[in-house]
Amino acid sequence: MVYDIVINNGRIVDGTGNPPYLSDLAIKEGKITKIKKVISDKATIVIDAKGLIIAPGFIDIHSHSDSNIPISNKLESMITQGITTAAVGQCGISLAPISDETFDLFKKEVDMWSPPGVEIDLSWRSFEDYLKELEKGKCSMNIVPFVGFGAIRLAGGPGYEDRPPTSEELIKMQSYVEEALQSGAFGMSTGLIYSPQVYAKTDEVIELAKIVAKYNRIYFSHIRDEGAKVVKAVEEFIRIVEASGCKSGQIAHHKASGITNWGLSKKTLQIIHEANQRGLDITCDQYPYNRSMTSLITILPPWVHVGGIESILERLDDAKNREKIKNEMEEGLTDQENFAKHQGFENIFIASVKTDKWLDIEGKSIAEITKIRNLKDDYETLFSIISDEKGAVWITIESMGEEDIKRIMTSEYSMVSTDGSGVSPEGPLSHGKPHPRFYGTFPRVLGKFVREEKWLSLEEAIWKMTGFPAKKLDLEERGLIKENYWADIVIFDPETVKDEATYEEPHRFSTGIDYVIVNGKITVEKGKLQEVLEGKILRI
Ligand SMILES: [Zn+2]
Repeated sequence: MVYDIVINNGRIVDGTGNPPYLSDLAIKEGKITKIKKVISDKATIVIDAKGLIIAPGFIDIHSHSDSNIPISNKLESMITQGITTAAVGQCGISLAPISDETFDLFKKEVDMWSPPGVEIDLSWRSFEDYLKELEKGKCSMNIVPFVGFGAIRLAGGPGYEDRPPTSEELIKMQSYVEEALQSGAFGMSTGLIYSPQVYAKTDEVIELAKIVAKYNRIYFSHIRDEGAKVVKAVEEFIRIVEASGCKSGQIAHHKASGITNWGLSKKTLQIIHEANQRGLDITCDQYPYNRSMTSLITILPPWVHVGGIESILERLDDAKNREKIKNEMEEGLTDQENFAKHQGFENIFIASVKTDKWLDIEGKSIAEITKIRNLKDDYETLFSIISDEKGAVWITIESMGEEDIKRIMTSEYSMVSTDGSGVSPEGPLSHGKPHPRFYGTFPRVLGKFVREEKWLSLEEAIWKMTGFPAKKLDLEERGLIKENYWADIVIFDPETVKDEATYEEPHRFSTGIDYVIVNGKITVEKGKLQEVLEGKILRI
């Protein structure tokens, strides 16, 4: 037997949570074909992994790379972290379905979030056609698609209107969910702080999640509040899973946001634990940083979002509306998570803009910008940036406390996720200052939180990155180092693995990730990305 690849002398951490063991490993035709103490058979490629860890390729259970795949299918910042499979379509945001009637609104939204000078060709309408298009394009890693509630509400529901759906609209939305699940979507995601999803009451979501339950799939959610009302939001999430009959649910990027809310993860994890005791399968994921990232317009009260981005901009042109928004945000009148009030403008940093007008303030906080530009107050800064940039502004928010980060990371219910998307130090995706999690999430857990802080053992961390998410997603033959499993493998140095990306300089690849193998093909070799696109679009 001549193998395609043999890896010698490494220590295997197999993804089950079991401790490392010394073994050789052989790969043939995309699969792990043999795991044995010594393999001396011939191989086309031999990798000496002395001193290194051989682990299953990391599974990023919450990613937004779908927005960038049409621009570059290499997903450089992701694959170089050791990620071999990414679940996309999260936070209710997916690139399908699209209806002809609301195509223009949908396209405006997509254009707004595309990097400057880039236009994504939205040639598909149904989820099936979208997946076919993805399959044509190839990708550096495996993709696990989810359908987003935002796209569903726009395609078949009340869209950007603050009202419940009519019974006709509800049936239409349900049929869109059904079509996506029949095409192979692993479940449905929501992002209940984002317009238009923010207008949906719990019952609307439950009615759609019933379709998810019918197909025995999963409900994923960026819950309605991650700050002062995070406990209520977790309760709503569990109600949706339980009332719809879904087999399981995943709370996205779990956190307790805002200094006055630190400590609330004690309660939320308790609620999650109790739900599991009742027989539900409720888990969560987390990125290992103290800042979150979102769009600047999310800060505005829900009524400002009615009608979509053009209506937002029109409203901001009116001084009376600006005054009203300011008062509501200051007084905390809005029912929505209030970043400005709870985190303060000194903790809200501009990550990226699209025009030259504000380019020099990327990386700075809104409070700093007010001073630098000599503006009246932080609200004037906020409104001016949104208006000038036509809404296309990303922010990072310093909002999380170390105790909550630790409590969530070490919880038996949490997995690791980036909540990022594949970007690159060069080309159109090098735009702005994205959150460093786009480049460094998995190496940061392994370097800072396993090696330095010792919050987790190596095998626990690897379980949270591989076996656990694979089990959650019901991925066939992935997530473990096991014979006959797909050869999705990462080889790294546990003594040096490290995230290099920072808030100031995010476009930096992690170090210590030596090899990334996707479906048996070496995609990162000696730390260098290769021209290999062997990922599969997975359907369930
Ligand atoms: Zn989210």
